[in-house]
Amino acid sequence: MTRADSAVDILVVGAGAAGLCAALALANSGHSVALAGPLEAASNGRTVALFEGSLRFLRAQKLWPDLASIAAKIVAIDLIDATNAPVPIPSLTFAADEIGLNALGANIENDKLVLRLADLVRRNPDIRRVEDLVADIEYHTDGVTAVFASGRRIDAKLIVAADGQRSTMRKKAGIGTRRWTYPQVALTVLLAHERPHHDRSIEFHTRSGPCTLVPLPPRGEAQHRSSLVWLMSPQEAQRRHGLDADYLAADIAHEVEEIYGEMRLDSDPGFFPMAGMRAARLTGRRIALIAEAAHTFPPLAAQGLNLSLRDIAALTSSLETARQAREDVGGAAALHRYAAAQEPDIDIRVRGIDVLNRSMLSDALPVDMLRGLGFFAMSALGPLRRAALREGVLPHHRRQLRSAPRPTPGAIF
Ligand SMILES: Cc1cc2nc3c(=O)[nH]c(=O)nc-3n(C[C@H](O)[C@H](O)[C@H](O)COP(=O)(O)OP(=O)(O)OC[C@H]3O[C@@H](n4cnc5c(N)ncnc54)[C@H](O)[C@@H]3O)c2cc1C
Repeated sequence: MTRADSAVDILVVGAGAAGLCAALALANSGHSVALAGPLEAASNGRTVALFEGSLRFLRAQKLWPDLASIAAKIVAIDLIDATNAPVPIPSLTFAADEIGLNALGANIENDKLVLRLADLVRRNPDIRRVEDLVADIEYHTDGVTAVFASGRRIDAKLIVAADGQRSTMRKKAGIGTRRWTYPQVALTVLLAHERPHHDRSIEFHTRSGPCTLVPLPPRGEAQHRSSLVWLMSPQEAQRRHGLDADYLAADIAHEVEEIYGEMRLDSDPGFFPMAGMRAARLTGRRIALIAEAAHTFPPLAAQGLNLSLRDIAALTSSLETARQAREDVGGAAALHRYAAAQEPDIDIRVRGIDVLNRSMLSDALPVDMLRGLGFFAMSALGPLRRAALREGVLPHHRRQLRSAPRPTPGAIF
């Protein structure tokens, strides 16, 4: 066996938003940590809306003060049915003050989030940073060695795979996946517009999926900005791919019923084919999967990174228990605790998003009726609406997030 160049407790593989957060949280919890992978911060019009549960996790990790200045708060979400269904489907509003919060969450540009987190990692003396791809893993009796593309080697007790949908670590660990596709492409872009968004997110439900505007903070001359995630058929995406920026902006303004007046593109657009993926298991020998290495689904209800932060919270908590009990952090007991805590959350989100998405795509009358009934019930019954809202922004089975820090009095959010 070739000797490793260094050894750590935990090697996080993948320096996307999830891997960066995982490395910071695990280092905060006292483990020796290395983070592997190149820094990629593409500006592709993508943002992430993070809900109150995620903000509490970020506050608890002392990461939020560095992120708040690049975030826009979301105080309400308006859902507007635009499917032309044969049954009436009422509009629905979820508002933060209904459940005693200042904000439901915050929206942050993806590339800015990744760069800020990478800066926090760079300033953290307890995280060893290797900006290289891991090419292979080799097991030995009491650990695992990551072999980098450069030939460098790092020994660890545990690998945390945060290396995205096509995770090499997942394949090397022999963990299979279930995959499916949707006849949809998401168009993402940042927009500057004429009228203010009043900190509200607006979601138009169409027959090809939701078309959602989410608030962004002002930038330079652009006082009123939002991000767009618009799900459409691959043919429509192809057509819009070729559009001149002004035509595309006018097309978007028309689709959102001119709600904010004139619009102009404030970034290049991005186009993302929609698919789902679920790893067969969350853990393997000395490996724990998190985030998009474990689950991928369309960006309905903005659940992706929110769920990933709960993966990280669950993993950090299981490994903290292992560390305190002087257990092996890469051992079966610690990994079993993580999987048992997080599998149900992942199952609910993956299935829930799938049903919600397919219910919009289907024009079968019974499906429309069920959707209409759900919207009617939630708009008429306050307790039901508040329960659904709480479950969306502060999921019930993550007690540690519910009890985690709220905003300090006087803070904006
Ligand atoms: C259109 C769209 C809108 C979205 N909106 C929201 C939203 O509003 N709210 C929300 O919560 N979520 C949202 N999401 C999901 C969110 O963007 C992702 O969860 C988030 O980007 C985090 O991804 P990740 O870190 O798991 O994976 P990635 O960003 O894919 O990062 C994986 C990293 O691993 C690295 N890597 C790969 N292989 C290796 C290797 N062998 N060695 C080392 N490194 C490796 C890659 O270079 C990459 O940097 C959205 C997604 C889409 C597509």
